[in-house]
Amino acid sequence: MPRIVMKFGGTSMAGIERIRNVASRVRREAEAEAGNEVLVVVSAMAGETDRLVQLCREAAALSDPKEYDVVVASGEQVTSGLLAMTLQNMGVKARSFMGWQLVRASGVHGNARVEAIESATLDEALKGGTVAVIPGFQGVSEDGRVATLGRGGSDTSAVAIAAGVKADRCDIYTDVDGVYTTDPRIVPNARKLNQVTFDEMLELAGVGAKVLQVRSVGLAMRENMPLRVLSAFEDKPGTDIVAELSGAEMERNLIAGIAADRNEARITLTGIADTPGTVAATISPIAEAGIQVDMIVHAATPNTGSSDLTFTVPRASLAQAISVIEQRKDAIGYSDLVQDPSVAKVSIVGVGIRSNPALAAKMFETLAERRINLLAVSTSEIKVSALIAEDELELAVRVLHTAFGLDDQSAAA
Ligand code: ADP
Ligand code: ASP
Ligand code: MG
Repeated sequence: MPRIVMKFGGTSMAGIERIRNVASRVRREAEAEAGNEVLVVVSAMAGETDRLVQLCREAAALSDPKEYDVVVASGEQVTSGLLAMTLQNMGVKARSFMGWQLVRASGVHGNARVEAIESATLDEALKGGTVAVIPGFQGVSEDGRVATLGRGGSDTSAVAIAAGVKADRCDIYTDVDGVYTTDPRIVPNARKLNQVTFDEMLELAGVGAKVLQVRSVGLAMRENMPLRVLSAFEDKPGTDIVAELSGAEMERNLIAGIAADRNEARITLTGIADTPGTVAATISPIAEAGIQVDMIVHAATPNTGSSDLTFTVPRASLAQAISVIEQRKDAIGYSDLVQDPSVAKVSIVGVGIRSNPALAAKMFETLAERRINLLAVSTSEIKVSALIAEDELELAVRVLHTAFGLDDQSAAA
């Protein structure tokens, strides 16, 4: 019997009416003619995790990550119980499991990794015809405490569980009907992609397209798990995440999409000695504190022996990163520390970038025409990112979307 994982995000679970809609979709799959073994992974209701994070901030500016996890994991516990009881009420055999019963995790609290899934427990339930409802975003750490998987982590829970129980596919149901050429909330005439490659999706998610958490994409790619993004509200085909584009998709634009990321803050240290080791002395302690450093620009001022170092960190980690640097002021030896939380990153992503360097130039020219200033630039094989002022982000996304021929002409007509 086919085994499928269905994951429902926060908007799809926001309130009892929407949970009933989810339950009907689950029932349809569980009672399909061929019959399916169904596992459902759920998010907290939309806005709930933000609310819980804010409560933690109010309780303590820098809280113990283990206690933070106890608090923020609770949203998914509520929705999994509510969905299981709604299914039962519709006559579908279902039960909820808690993350600690199924998902072993490791690494830092608040951003833990999935290590293993207790698949035997799930096998037993599925073989008995029970729909398993599982809270996303969490597992149990090596120290026996609840651990969360980073914001948006329910996608990763879903893929990890699908791989752990050897499911035939993993369907991510959300509030848009697929992966678009950019966030359709910024560009209303963005175009839906029928297919997107794992490589492209990894880069898109990595630079801000939060429709899938980046780790879920990497995991699905490694595990060869068929992954789809589709609407929780409408019956439409959705987007397949594939190893290689096929059919008409192979002819599509060189750029798959444009991503926007507001989750950036910039730190600049001026007057650092231009000697080997200064960049490491700054970046290493930040990385050791579990803070992800993204763009890094280190530029020496010729003939002065002095240099400036600019880098970005997630906005929520800015205060912690500043505190780590200030504690090491003497060891690093900088003259000024400038912080800017109002920056954002815009990126173009596509397998075409690999073979066509003119695409990066076109991106910079397009931004220059609108007098959008580049604060830093980073590139990978299939992506170019530019750091810009946050208030110019939406304009940047729109002009790049048009310049790269991604606007949906039929929608504009
Ligand atoms: P869920 O709660 O279902 O996990 P998310 O809010 O995490 O949903 O992700 C879905 C959102 O991702 C959409 O509402 C959309 O605004 C945003 N998004 C960003 N980039 C894209 C893109 N390229 N294609 C589709 N949606 C995108
Ligand atoms: N509820 C968590 C979040 O908002 C996890 C998720 O929805 O994927 O980040
Ligand atoms: Mg999400």
